[in-house]
Amino acid sequence: MSHPIVRFAPSPTGRIHIGNARTALLNYLFARRHHGEFILRFDDTDIERSKEEFAASIEVDLAWLGIKPTLILRQSQRFALYHDAAEKLRAAHRLYPCYETAEELDRKRKRLQARGLPPIYDRAALSLTDADRARLEAEGRRPHWRFKLEPGTAHWDDLIRGESRIDCASLSDPILIREDGSYLYTLPSVVDDIDCRITHVIRGEDHVTNTAVQIQLFEALSGPGHAPSFGHHNLLSSATGEGLSKRTGALSIGSLHDQGIESLAVAAAAVLTGSSVALHPIRDLEEMIATLDLSSLSRSQARFDPAELAALSARTLHQLDFEAVRDRLAAHDITGYKAKAFWEAVRGNLTVFLDCIEWWRVVEGEIPPVTEDSEFLALASQRLPEEPWDEKAWSFWTSRLKDETGRKGKALFHPLRLALTGRETGPELAALLPLIGKLKATARLSGHVA
Ligand code: GLU
Repeated sequence: MSHPIVRFAPSPTGRIHIGNARTALLNYLFARRHHGEFILRFDDTDIERSKEEFAASIEVDLAWLGIKPTLILRQSQRFALYHDAAEKLRAAHRLYPCYETAEELDRKRKRLQARGLPPIYDRAALSLTDADRARLEAEGRRPHWRFKLEPGTAHWDDLIRGESRIDCASLSDPILIREDGSYLYTLPSVVDDIDCRITHVIRGEDHVTNTAVQIQLFEALSGPGHAPSFGHHNLLSSATGEGLSKRTGALSIGSLHDQGIESLAVAAAAVLTGSSVALHPIRDLEEMIATLDLSSLSRSQARFDPAELAALSARTLHQLDFEAVRDRLAAHDITGYKAKAFWEAVRGNLTVFLDCIEWWRVVEGEIPPVTEDSEFLALASQRLPEEPWDEKAWSFWTSRLKDETGRKGKALFHPLRLALTGRETGPELAALLPLIGKLKATARLSGHVA
């Protein structure tokens, strides 16, 4: 495939959630896999609801997920293009003014439904004469504008769903421009997709019907055969089967970040849930770039389980190499010659990354030890081997204590763990002991804060 150009086009009316991340990542991974480009486009034609702070947070959330857009665009800065396109459609008699109020349209729909007919707009506005329109305008009515669909079946070979068709006769002519002159999503999206030479539109299956309309718009604006390829992925739903919404803020990327969930776990869950690939921890996005196949996405609902995500996040941490977390550790002053061995010692015990701060305190800082059985601890202190220590120091030391005292199992290890770490459980002491060092170990075994 030569140089695809894709886009992720959120409206900045809330923070993105894991379902939006699915769309963003599927586009990004696709672009990366085929050495293409990924455009972030803010669909912010709704000036009232779009907020700069949401656009900013979307950029932050995407960056956290590892997504780097090639280009960032805002529809609010591109109105001239939409005006030109609307003119072109008017000139081709594909955009026509309608004057019905919302109540009138609602009555029409109800009448059709009462007769068991589909609520399709009757195109009454197409039969208005110039005089009718002048009269309506004199009454103070302003037109909204509909795109005149051509009869026939829209069909496309969906990248995910395969051969797809929609009978356009089953659709109302869509409104492209509201009474107040503002644009609905449909036209600006197509205009930008043409202008940016988008080759593949990958989005949620809630847009399938839009695709039928938009294929006609692509052809009306740039000639037959000019529509991009389309792929519609299944939507993530909550564990109970409800859809996710940007408005409620539930499962927003920001809230997952604040809960300490690893970005790689969010990315893996966003992409792999509802696919034929089992959910598993990943080391980087590259792994998914290599394996992602849009056809592995299933067509059934993809239920997303937050408890599974928390577990995946912990498993993700457990397999991360030091290099992958070096900067994050350094941000918490976990640096120096011990940092790598420290990470390798504690990672398997972390639920969230920030847990490692407490363990660093055990290794480098001061903790109040918990001393039970001070006689045993005094002996243990005397029997500490000479430094330098490696992973064998622990077994050398504890075998000696075992031989001398006859203690074993919990009676042997538990008092040592409590004194050395101040905690009941934690990482392997064989790995921690050399990091704690003899000075601190001796002090803690004698009950001193060290
Ligand atoms: N702004 C639209 C949405 O968030 C974009 C849909 C599309 O990708 O065309 O649903």
